[in-house]
Amino acid sequence: MPSRISAARRRKLAPPRNLPVPVDLIFEKLLPLYGPIEWRPRYNALDELIFTVLTQHTSDLNAERAFDELRRRITSWEKVLEADVLDIADAIQHGGLANQKSVRIQKILGEIQERHGQLELEFLKDFDVEDARTWLTELSGVGPKTAAVVMAFALGMPAIPVDTHIHRVSGRLGLIRKGTTADDAHVMLEKLIDPDDRFPLHVLLITHGRQICKARRPLCADCPLVERCPSKDTLI
Ligand code: SF4
Repeated sequence: MPSRISAARRRKLAPPRNLPVPVDLIFEKLLPLYGPIEWRPRYNALDELIFTVLTQHTSDLNAERAFDELRRRITSWEKVLEADVLDIADAIQHGGLANQKSVRIQKILGEIQERHGQLELEFLKDFDVEDARTWLTELSGVGPKTAAVVMAFALGMPAIPVDTHIHRVSGRLGLIRKGTTADDAHVMLEKLIDPDDRFPLHVLLITHGRQICKARRPLCADCPLVERCPSKDTLI
């Protein structure tokens, strides 16, 4: 019999009914602006995971420099696992927080080696979404967002990484309930969005957040969703 807590949590994670801005309308209005959208993996799954660790608290550009330098200096993940952590920190210094990130990277690699027996994550393609998410989030320091990035970008799985842009824009459009945390938004949005639509919707919302629905001063007058957006009057 389900517990009261799990029933309450299920209700908390249920997506809102009667969306003020239906998902179809978001596609209709934003796809001409930001499309076409094509899925192409940028890294294999383990590279994507380590890259995502490097993006924490810095720009993608700095993370790319750190990632490239790490791969140049220490040429395999097996060697990174065995390397002196100070050498890893030195290689990734462009990404910031190098001391913490170098320890985290080695810990993650060690856990993957211990649990899977080899340093790769492509086997997760054979898992269903929830099992892959659970496997990844059981790694040290890997939360729902990092797991969703690996699943969506490297493994082609229907996950929606909720970063600050997705969290803000989906909240303003009423796709998630008021007060929903970014971690809970992963579950809520995935309940709401058809699997095939999750990757393109992720790209549309993140691009909209960067270009028009900005954090401080959203350009509502230029937004093709303004007529239906429940936040426009509070922000204009
Ligand atoms: S109308 Fe304004 S708040 Fe609403 S989605 Fe557009 S830019 Fe964001």
